[in-house]
Amino acid sequence: MTGPMKNLTILGSTGSIGVSTLQIVESFPDAYRVVALTAGNNIDLLVEQVCKFRPQLVAVVSEQGAERLAKRLQGQDVEILSGVEGLIRCATHDASDMVVAAIVGAAGLVPTMAAIKAGKDIALANKETLVTAGSLVMDEVARQGVTMIPVDSEHSAVFQSLAGQRSEDVRRIILTASGGPFRQHSLQQLKSVTPADALAHPNWNMGNKISIDSATMMNKGLEVIEACWLFNLPAEQVAVHIHPESIIHSMVEYKDGAVLAQLGVPDMKTPIAYALSWPQRLPLDLQPLDLCRAEKLTFAEPDLERFPCLQLAYQAFAAGGTVPAVMNAANEVAVEAFLQQRLDFLGIPKVIEQVVARHQREELVAIDKVLQADLAGRQEARNLIREGLK
Ligand code: NAD
Ligand code: MG
Repeated sequence: MTGPMKNLTILGSTGSIGVSTLQIVESFPDAYRVVALTAGNNIDLLVEQVCKFRPQLVAVVSEQGAERLAKRLQGQDVEILSGVEGLIRCATHDASDMVVAAIVGAAGLVPTMAAIKAGKDIALANKETLVTAGSLVMDEVARQGVTMIPVDSEHSAVFQSLAGQRSEDVRRIILTASGGPFRQHSLQQLKSVTPADALAHPNWNMGNKISIDSATMMNKGLEVIEACWLFNLPAEQVAVHIHPESIIHSMVEYKDGAVLAQLGVPDMKTPIAYALSWPQRLPLDLQPLDLCRAEKLTFAEPDLERFPCLQLAYQAFAAGGTVPAVMNAANEVAVEAFLQQRLDFLGIPKVIEQVVARHQREELVAIDKVLQADLAGRQEARNLIREGLK
């Protein structure tokens, strides 16, 4: 790796993406330095990370968390912050060159937006940022002239398959989806799946929320919206193929019929490293892809009857304005309720559909509108779940 040292803020450092990012930083100490870390509730892991990576700033969500952290980090030269203000301080820290946006959910929007406004380059894992506020975020990216590189493996694959091509030559992009743990379940079987079943993803090891999203295929729906914003394409030009082997990470089809794809073993370290090092590549110590042992690559159309969330996401994107933010909020609440066994698996799309149907769409004039829609969507979803779905 050549070039100057890159200073990183990692938002969500204790999560699945955050931990993998820190493993890369650890492997390339001459290329990356951590200047700020943020986390939700996992104070034990955060303490370990602070001791190892020595950031200047660290933020956690709650004040109690910050107090616990302060006790554990006595004598360390690190400033401890809390709340959204603390996340924003980390995201906009002067010393930071790039912000890895790896918080889960709409909670990632405000700090990520603050980072863009402060002129930071973004390695974007938090797809909910673009789902909820894509127009505002992309406008700000353009205004500030920052680079936003996708970490999501599908979007990283598209980004790589677009390199050196003209955008007007693109016919469509094809996002691949593993199909999740319930790819072959019947509707009848889906009725009684448990959180443990849903968390057992066949190919990827991820945080709980995105694992459930993968099982419902809402993850792919969120990714379609993410792709539309990132690559400035209408939804008609974003297709989804089920590809259970997870070897082709996504593809771009051009108007002459050529299809460019990016392949690799399913390991998030590759797209994370690429986002950090673009346009260079880091020599990662991963098992090479052995296509001869893969035997076959298979593809299928998604089944919208068994996985209605994908369709709900297309519809929300078409409606635009505050609708995707409300859909996302309802999904977050429904997923949490499913994880806590207060809602059946098939209740997740039902909650989302009903919350979106009750929402009065508004234009996304500013971030405040997104936050209001997010809160309203959460409230409506909680009420629906409490009252029992019809
Ligand atoms: P995770 O649940 O493992 O980690 C989330 C991180 O965010 C943790 O550090 C947690 O403490 C923090 N956090 C949670 N709630 C917070 C809040 N309200 N405020 C501040 N911080 C909070 O999640 P993950 O699987 O690492 O996913 C992170 C993001 O990356 C998601 O948007 C996900 O869709 C996206 N993503 C993840 C993967 C993957 O392989 N895990 C792949 C592609 C995209
Ligand atoms: Mg993905």
